[in-house]
Amino acid sequence: MPELVVSEAWIEDGGFIHFGSYLTDEEEAKELGGGKHLIDNLSVDRLPPPGKQVTLPPEFYLRELGDLDADDPEEILAFTNTWGLLGKPGLVEIGQPFFDMEHLRVARSSSLPERAELTKEVVSLVDPHSRQNESWENRQFVHFREISVHARLIRDLTRIYAVLADGRDVAELKDDWESAWLPRPEQEIAAQGILVDYLSHALSPFHVALSLQVDGRPFYEPWHPTLFATACLQLANDIAQKQPYRRCHKCGRQFVIQRGRAKYGQNRREGEIKFCSSSCAKAQAQRDLYRRQVEARRLHADGMGVEAIAEHLDAKAESVARWVKGR
Ligand SMILES: [Zn+2]
Repeated sequence: MPELVVSEAWIEDGGFIHFGSYLTDEEEAKELGGGKHLIDNLSVDRLPPPGKQVTLPPEFYLRELGDLDADDPEEILAFTNTWGLLGKPGLVEIGQPFFDMEHLRVARSSSLPERAELTKEVVSLVDPHSRQNESWENRQFVHFREISVHARLIRDLTRIYAVLADGRDVAELKDDWESAWLPRPEQEIAAQGILVDYLSHALSPFHVALSLQVDGRPFYEPWHPTLFATACLQLANDIAQKQPYRRCHKCGRQFVIQRGRAKYGQNRREGEIKFCSSSCAKAQAQRDLYRRQVEARRLHADGMGVEAIAEHLDAKAESVARWVKGR
C-alpha cells in the first residue's frame, strides 16, 4: 500500500471542507512564495503545512470507510483529517462508465446520464461557495456530500463484489445500496460492468509514467496516490486474490483478517475466524461465559450436583463450584 499525505482540513459554512485558503492580493501571494500554488489567479495564503504521512491499515475500505457516517459533516471532517480527502474536487475520480445498462453491453461512448446528473447536483452545491474564476477541479474545498458520494460508491462496489463472489442474486443489493445517483444493477452482467468501469477508472493513477522537463529531458515524477484510489486498490487486490469475506458472528461486519491483540491472534487470516476483532471475540467469550454461569446456577437450583453440571456444560468442576456459589 502506498503512503498518503494528509493535510489539515477544516469546515466552513456548515458543510464545506477546506484544505487551502486564498489571498486576494496576487503580489502578496508571490512574495509569500505562493506561485507554486497559483490556482486560477488565486493563491494559497498560507502554504499548507507539510502534511503528515499515513499508511492505510489493512481493510480500510471495509472498516474505517465502511463505518463512516456519510451524512455527518463533523464525522467526515474528522475522517478527512485522519486519512485525507476522499475524492478529488470535480468528481474526476468517478468514471464515466462505458457499460450500457439498458442494452447490457459495453457501449461505444460514455453511457450513463445519471453520471451527468451527479455532476450537475454537485455543481449546484459548490457553485455558490466558489470564488470568481475558481476552477471546478482545482478548488481548495469540497462540500462534504462530495466525500459521501465517493465513500458510498466504494461501499456499493464492495457490495457488488461480495454478492458476485458468494454467487448470490444481485437482487440482494437492494437491501443496502447507497449511491442514490447510480441505478442499482438488476442483472449480474450490469453489476460486473459497474464494478469494472468504476474500479478501473479509479485505479488509472497506478501506472508508472514519465514526464518531459522544460529542457526536454524525461524524468520520473514522484506522485502521491489519492485516498480514493488507494482504497479502491485495496478492494481490487481482494478481488484479484479472490478473497472471500467473512461476517463477524458478534457485530455482523464484513472482514477478511481479524484485527487485534496477539493473544486473540493478531491479524489472523487462516483457519476458522468468527470474529472481526479481538474485542468482538472477547465480548462474545464473556457473553458465553455469563450464559454458562446462569445455566449452571439454574441446574444447581434444580438439584443437580456440581460434577454433573460440569460434565453437562463441559466445564471444570471447580469453576462450576465457584459459579453456583455466585462468585
Ligand atoms: Zn465484529
